[in-house]
Amino acid sequence: MLPKPLETRLQAQLEQDYPNWVRSLAEPAPVSIRYNPSKPYPRADLPVVPWWPDAVYLLNRPAFVFDPLWHSGAYYVQEASSMLVGFLAQPLLKNIEAPNVLDLCAAPGGKSTHLLSLLNTHGLLIANEVIKSRAEVLLQNIMKQGSAQAVVTSADPSDFSTLSGFFDVVVVDAPCSGEGLLRKQPDAVLEWSPEAVAHCAARQNRILEAAAPLVAQGGYLIYSTCTHSTEENEDRISALLETGMWQVELPALPDAGIVAGSLGWRCYPHRVAGEGFFVSCLKRTGQSNETHKIKRNLRFNWVAAPKTDMPLINHFLAHPDFFRLLAHPKLETRFAAPSHLLARIATVASATPLKYFGLAVGSMKGSTPVPDHALALSDSLSGQITRLELPKEEALRFLKKETLDASPTSSGWSLATYQQVGLGWLKAAGNRYNNYLPTHWRIRLDLPPGML
Ligand code: SAM
Repeated sequence: MLPKPLETRLQAQLEQDYPNWVRSLAEPAPVSIRYNPSKPYPRADLPVVPWWPDAVYLLNRPAFVFDPLWHSGAYYVQEASSMLVGFLAQPLLKNIEAPNVLDLCAAPGGKSTHLLSLLNTHGLLIANEVIKSRAEVLLQNIMKQGSAQAVVTSADPSDFSTLSGFFDVVVVDAPCSGEGLLRKQPDAVLEWSPEAVAHCAARQNRILEAAAPLVAQGGYLIYSTCTHSTEENEDRISALLETGMWQVELPALPDAGIVAGSLGWRCYPHRVAGEGFFVSCLKRTGQSNETHKIKRNLRFNWVAAPKTDMPLINHFLAHPDFFRLLAHPKLETRFAAPSHLLARIATVASATPLKYFGLAVGSMKGSTPVPDHALALSDSLSGQITRLELPKEEALRFLKKETLDASPTSSGWSLATYQQVGLGWLKAAGNRYNNYLPTHWRIRLDLPPGML
């Protein structure tokens, strides 16, 4: 049952299309996945998402937790309409040589992982999530994506205020009243009320007021929600336009049932193969005398790691010269940052502490390198590393952190793979392997009978 005021609002918005919208809420929600281009594997022949050809609809919803490819980051389960953020960002990013991109409301990481897959080698993504517990999930998904060009932070949008004009693209995928997700999350109606919509709109205003100054002149702000209310969508865009510093910048509309308005695009579940969504893109124009100087940053407590740690990158990375190996006085784990991104990473750290950046490569135990789990998932890993390809059952056993049946044929570290995509580290110990999957990454559920 829909609350009466929600019915009235949607009837006014959709007019004769309203019954189709209501009917669509009873239909099964499409399930879509977006492939990770840096982790190719053999793909099934499935219908493609019209606005993102590297994403497909699955015929039903599998238990992703029992698919090793999901754990390896070979694909991301993302609602199709949400991929429009990447669709809008792609042509913008193509025209910027070394883009700084901020995803301000990033957890669990659908837009961030999509944006990462679009960056050229000079791009940097800051994936930020204010809620600490959600930032942990974001971090795992960023690691699974495998790119060393991300920074993860957990800050309030206002904490970035010293970075005004620093970002070429800022994405605000705002917390909203969720009217577009009602068929996926029917219980969301229980929290819906006109007051909740007003509360969300006020919060979106606050987020946008913090986000807008961060955009460089000539840069872009992509705003999206998964709700239908105009207060949370077009009204927020109008409020920005009133400041006189923005113009709407939308490309040609993909021919897929999306409703194009002058202030943004709307997806309705009865018109597109996806959930309800709103997205708009604004370009920052006008005069501003902000310049951003890269300052020496005393809060960036990372220094060059000692030479004795170099096996961590020399042995494990395909292009160690591309990276700077860094040590923190309070951490054993060494991080590698792409050298050409380091100054920009340190600049971000001047605004807010970094939860993660570049690539956690591992630590040294005496003269032996111990690789970090992030390295197993990384697209920077050397092709020379010994690999142990596992059949599905063994891969799932590995992901449950069980002992494998296989006997080592070489000493030292091996990368456990499934369909040639990295899952985690194994270390030969006599006639068996030790499983180095971090405990908090393991599958906790029992494998269903028949899976083994
Ligand atoms: N972009 C994400 C993705 O594609 O996976 C989904 C983001 S979700 C729609 C909105 C996020 O905003 C949530 O993770 C929520 O925790 C966060 N959030 C909530 N209140 C916020 C605030 N006041 N400022 C910034 N972010 C906030």
